[in-house]
Amino acid sequence: MASDTDILKVENLNIWFQMRQGFLKDMVSKEVSYAKAVDGISFDIKKGEIFCLVGESGCGKTTTGKGILRLVEPTSGSIIFADDPNDPVIKKLLESEAAVDVEGRRGIDVRKLTRKEMTYARQRIQMIFQDPYESLNPKMTVFDIVAEPLVVNRLYKDEYDKERRVKKALSEAGLRPPEQFMWRYPHQVSGGQRQRVGIAGALVLSPSLLVADEPISMLDVSIRGEILKLMLDLREKAKLSYLFITHDLSVAYVFSDRIGVMYLGRIVEIGPTELVIKNPKHPYTQALITVVPKPDPTAKEEKIILRGERPDPTHIPKGCRFHPRCPYVMDICRVYQPAETEVEPGHTTECFLLSPNKEVLKKKMDIVTAKKKGLRLFKTSKKKKKRTQKKK
Ligand code: SF4
Repeated sequence: MASDTDILKVENLNIWFQMRQGFLKDMVSKEVSYAKAVDGISFDIKKGEIFCLVGESGCGKTTTGKGILRLVEPTSGSIIFADDPNDPVIKKLLESEAAVDVEGRRGIDVRKLTRKEMTYARQRIQMIFQDPYESLNPKMTVFDIVAEPLVVNRLYKDEYDKERRVKKALSEAGLRPPEQFMWRYPHQVSGGQRQRVGIAGALVLSPSLLVADEPISMLDVSIRGEILKLMLDLREKAKLSYLFITHDLSVAYVFSDRIGVMYLGRIVEIGPTELVIKNPKHPYTQALITVVPKPDPTAKEEKIILRGERPDPTHIPKGCRFHPRCPYVMDICRVYQPAETEVEPGHTTECFLLSPNKEVLKKKMDIVTAKKKGLRLFKTSKKKKKRTQKKK
């Protein structure tokens, strides 16, 4: 079960990619455009917790996961990893320049780690990739694939120790007896077993945080349950915390403790799974939930079908980025970015419909309406008038 202490704290994380317009245009043009894959997101993960990022394809979930491991370089923001300070790996990292104080504890700012230190830190933060058919090297045996992180980090005493650790990881991942699998090649095992090999490769370094990027989306429905159960068992046995990335809300509901709903690079709603799924507040979350297939085919529920396509991350709409597709869009949504609002303890969302400060909202709406009608809301100051007259 999750404890009260954070193992990961992400604050205002941005991951932007500079867009190339062609060699000549790049030379001449002064304008630089970015694809804002992740645009100012914040969340934390407690020790032993399963935190799930959900959202449609291209919303920035995978980029967030990769950014935490620095497989893609974040543009700005902080990623604080605060694991057990008595752990030898963490102890060593806390002596580096990346050590920071966070809420009375010592943590590591992942973005400040050098390349070498980052490789070292990856012993405690590992990733399970989406596609077990692509992520395993077909020329390597299962033994070599699982042993690779040990070899890269030089973490075994001798060949006997290496074999012992690989066998342990394979057994933990449910490939028992390990001798039956470890000399096979990826094409000689089934899809579910391949994903277990991927999990064993992540477990061999004894991580405390696993970033699982859609780990069951490529598997048969019959195997999905097994892999989820395995991951739940590992949370208890190996005291793991997860950042679980999926586009499947029903999986997020049964598997996670808390959910963050992502849309176009931002987390638009975040909170305990039960609250977000049963009492969704953001129109995007509501739309996602209404289209999840229901177990009872005769049950009638109005579906919210979103209009149009998700906008291009290089041209994020002004104001609320969901406004071109929102069924409740108001004038204000086209101009201002809604602030984060806590709707119930631990459950927050970014939407003007839930803004508690109606006064501020009304003022903003008046400005928008006035601008639309071409009215001037504020009198021009005397100084400004003089300046304009001088210019004339
Ligand atoms: Fe819809 Fe406006 Fe809320 Fe955005 S802020 S989700 S556009 S109602």
